[in-house]
Amino acid sequence: MNVKNIKAFGTEAADAALAPLNIDRRVVTLKDVEINILYCGVCHSDLHFARNDWGFSVYPVVPGHEIVGKVTEVGKGVTKFKVGQLVAVGCLVDSCRTCNNCKNDLEQYCPEWVGTYGGQDKHLGTHTFGGYSESIVVDEDFVLNIPENLDLAGIAPILCAGITTWSPLRHWNVRKGSKVAVVGLGGLGHMAIKLANALGAEVTLFSRSPNKTKDAVDLGANQVVISTDDKQMAGVQNYFDVIIDTVPYTHDLNPYVATLNTNGTLVLVGYLGPLDAMLNSVPMIMGRKAVAGSLIGGIAETQELLDFCGKHNITSEIEIINIQDINTAYERMLKSDVHYRFVIDMASLKS
Ligand code: NAP
Ligand code: ZN
Ligand code: ZN
Repeated sequence: MNVKNIKAFGTEAADAALAPLNIDRRVVTLKDVEINILYCGVCHSDLHFARNDWGFSVYPVVPGHEIVGKVTEVGKGVTKFKVGQLVAVGCLVDSCRTCNNCKNDLEQYCPEWVGTYGGQDKHLGTHTFGGYSESIVVDEDFVLNIPENLDLAGIAPILCAGITTWSPLRHWNVRKGSKVAVVGLGGLGHMAIKLANALGAEVTLFSRSPNKTKDAVDLGANQVVISTDDKQMAGVQNYFDVIIDTVPYTHDLNPYVATLNTNGTLVLVGYLGPLDAMLNSVPMIMGRKAVAGSLIGGIAETQELLDFCGKHNITSEIEIINIQDINTAYERMLKSDVHYRFVIDMASLKS
């Protein structure tokens, strides 16, 4: 298969800094759309994957799954997109299309889903490379329309931080009057606050960082509970219908389970791995409380969210960086010093 060699930014090893490298993209096939990447958001998953935190990274890694760009070429069979159109790509670039999950718009739970980076490219037989690159070639069924009224760079984080929090808010039926809490004010957390607020919920932020209180309120939180303050935690016992937990590292869930109301659910979207401390089942059984997990969202649901954001004028709070600053950005992300999503201006890749 013919390929095009393009510029990208990535890493060859878990302990190496991100640096310029070249990668191959397939030339467009019948149903493909080629996109010149304008902006790419920086997700904490990019850092996890670059550093092999989850143990299944494949190198070289080119991260990036919050992609906004312009269509530069379309295959002969493409019907949904035209050259020159502004579009987006999120965390998924393919799936089997035939399993029950695919049929039910849950491609993210397809056993053969192809991640935007680190997935198995069905065309080239190699692994996929993400959006820290000049361009990307994606089947039109995995390309999204973007609302025309929103800032382009501010749209990018909707493609992961947005959909990852939107999908559980929708699945657990958050609506006007629901009592929602968000754990951690970072990329996912700030989108969760905005989206839950726009759905009409009463929103609480759990944070370790008292200095983020004003920002949380500006984003739409009704209150902030400092999770290390036992008195504040005691004030919200048996209260929440849904908790969206975005913390990236293992942490004690038991204090949060205690704040769920009867029938409430704590949804883990951040940490991937065995829990430590262990979960105590007593409050779960005695209060019919649940701890669940959720992965990004399907293509239809991501389009639903983009349309919702257009209607409600919602974008991410971003700090634009050049690709050459990505290693510093990762270090700042580890210190929770992001307000509240880095977005790479991909024009910097050419300089
Ligand atoms: P982020 O911007 O770094 O935000 C994480 C926030 O969690 C921080 O701002 C901080 O908030 C809090 N935090 C960080 N370390 C903590 C610790 N050790 N203990 C307690 N709180 C801590 O990260 P993100 O991009 O939002 O991503 C969050 C996690 O979600 C990552 O692990 C990422 O891989 C994962 N993720 C999952 C999915 C999915 O589909 N499930 C999709 C995307 C990302 P405070 O300062 O307010 O405490
Ligand atoms: Zn992500
Ligand atoms: Zn499938």
